[in-house]
Parts: sequence; C-alpha cells; structure tokens
Amino acid sequence: MNIILLGPPGAGKGTQARRLVEERDMIQLSTGDMLREARTSGTEMGKRVAEVMDRGELVTDDIVIGLIEEKLEGDTHGGFIFDGFPRTLAQADALGDLLKRHNTTLDAVIEMQVDDEALVQRITARSTCANCGEVYNDITKPQPADGKCAVCGHTEFNRRADDNEDALKQRLMEYYKKTSPLLGYYYAKGDLRTVNGLGEIDEVAAAIGRALAK
Ligand code: AMP
Repeated sequence: MNIILLGPPGAGKGTQARRLVEERDMIQLSTGDMLREARTSGTEMGKRVAEVMDRGELVTDDIVIGLIEEKLEGDTHGGFIFDGFPRTLAQADALGDLLKRHNTTLDAVIEMQVDDEALVQRITARSTCANCGEVYNDITKPQPADGKCAVCGHTEFNRRADDNEDALKQRLMEYYKKTSPLLGYYYAKGDLRTVNGLGEIDEVAAAIGRALAK
C-alpha cells in the first residue's frame, strides 16, 4: 500500500508516519528529512537548500522529485508513506508518473486537519531526540527530567532551524498557496480521506487506520 500524508507543517505527519513504519512495515519517505541530510553535506547544493529551508520556502521541484525517484528503487516492504511530498501540483504529477513507471499505484491520500493556532503552538515548542527522532513538546510532552530520551536513552535533542515563528509563517503561506490545491487534485481522483489531526497520537493513529480500511 502506498499513501501520502498531507497537511500543514506541525500536523503530525512525521509522528504518524513513524507509527505506520512500526505497525505496517511501511517505508517512510520524508523529503524534509532527506533535505536536512543534504544540507549537512557541505556541498554548494546543500548550502543553497539550507538557505531556502531556513526561510521557510519550498525547495525546487526537480531537487525533491530527484530525491524521491532514488528511493523508489529496491525493496518496497509494506509500501511507501510519502511524508511532506508532494507539496506542489508538479510534484503530484511527477509522483503519479514515477509510481506508474514502477507498476504501482497510490492507495490513499490522508489529509491531517489541524487549525493554525495549534500548529504554531506545536511547532514553536517542538524538539526531537538527535538519535531516534522521538518528538517532544515543551508543554504537552516535555523531554524527560533525567535528560534521557524516553525511547532510546540518548541525551542530545535538536530544535529545527525553521521551527521559529517567522519561518513558520512563511511555511504556512507556502502550504496554503502551493500545497493545499493538492486537496482538490486528490479529491477529484477519489483518493482523499480526511482525519482530525488534533487528538492524542493514538487517537489520530486509530483514525488513520479507519481511513485506510475504507
Ligand atoms: P518538513 O520537514 O516536511 O517540514 O520540510 C522542511 C522544509 O524542507 C520545508 O519547509 C521546505 O523548505 C523543504 N521541503 C520538504 N519537502 C519539500 C517538498 N516536497 N518540496 C519542496 N520543499 C520541501
């Protein structure tokens, strides 16, 4: 099964993708994670990508399509979760072509709905374990008092350079201008299923499970 998790920054796409990887042996393809890796490479391309990301703007379509294309080769396990991709109509068309070339199809697009106020709160309070990626929130799920990640025991945590209010405003603008038209695109294809992304992680996971069973 191949699915897209679609929603604004902070909707919980990464958290839910990690659950699906554990529970369904799926492969998470997060273009955000791939780009964060590329920016540490020290290459000219990495530096340009870092500047664009820190401003909260979208990286060019050809770069992210190229990244995804590389990852579709090889063993597919329980299928792919596209997390943060596609983000433009051109990327959506390219994904359709790539899947066709690999003789496979998209099974569902899950829209995760969360209101803007909750997004700002989630993102500006967010940190992740530098080792396993477990997500923490200063208010709702603080880092453990002993300074060790509750999942893997690692003691370093990261905050993303673009998880600040200015960059977030731009990221939301990009979402509404360039990514939200994908809702209509996938609705017209009959692939769109909407879940409420505001509940507890387990509740949202259950809602996604129900949406996928439809
Ligand atoms: P994310 O981790 O999904 O929030 O992505 C972080 C940043 O990476 C975004 O704000 C963009 O600058 C860039 N990015 C991630 N995925 C894409 C994509 N599919 N198209 C363009 N830019 C992307």
